[in-house]
Amino acid sequence: MDRYSTGQNISRRHLLKYGVGFLGASSLTVLVGTKAFASTEKVQLVASNPGTKQSTLTPDAALKNLIEGNQRFVAKKRLNPHQDDFRIKEVASGQAPFAAILGCADSRVVPEIAFDQGIGDIFVVRVAGNIASTEDIASEEYAVGVLGAPLLVVLGHERCGAVKAALEGGSFPGVIESLVSAIQPAVEASEGKPGDRLTNAVKANVRIQVKRLQKSSVLASAIQKGKLKIVGAFYDLDTGEISLVS
Ligand SMILES: [Zn+2]
Repeated sequence: MDRYSTGQNISRRHLLKYGVGFLGASSLTVLVGTKAFASTEKVQLVASNPGTKQSTLTPDAALKNLIEGNQRFVAKKRLNPHQDDFRIKEVASGQAPFAAILGCADSRVVPEIAFDQGIGDIFVVRVAGNIASTEDIASEEYAVGVLGAPLLVVLGHERCGAVKAALEGGSFPGVIESLVSAIQPAVEASEGKPGDRLTNAVKANVRIQVKRLQKSSVLASAIQKGKLKIVGAFYDLDTGEISLVS
């Protein structure tokens, strides 16, 4: 419980602003008692989080938490926290993840396990090539703007198949091409650099997706207020170790 404040770090008006715009159909009716709304007025608030809890961790403390979790994972000393019945009930009425992740869909890179976290700890968006498409950015804006996550990690990984496909080119069935073209700028950015071609492209892709996220007005505003850090990271498939990409 030490991760949560009992107060409300995000104003209700702020929550309303973000909540109403974002989540479409899954609405939640709450009573809002600010000056803007009469205390008895029922306001249709679209948000999955009533806003009673938010992570109180600083961006740096959140990053330390994740790094320590990964160190436990690598050392085979996982604590598997927050995975019991108590935790399920504890977060049933509201979530307050202390970090958001934009990771690859690759079945071998599982953020909850690799960072040794549990239910309600991290808000994970996964898509092949960890690309920041509009919907992915929207999801992360929700994690930060509504749920109050103080850290956002773009997690690329060794031997990423999506980045490899972009590197090798060719034709792809279905709509896979859209994925490959989103990664193409990373292929170009890493061209001619010393070292492993694919690893360079994966890391360049992480940097590019970090930059895309930084352009979001919601995320940029949180960064400016010192409430958010966005960092890039790289998962080593052979060891499970996660290192920061600068
Ligand atoms: Zn991948």
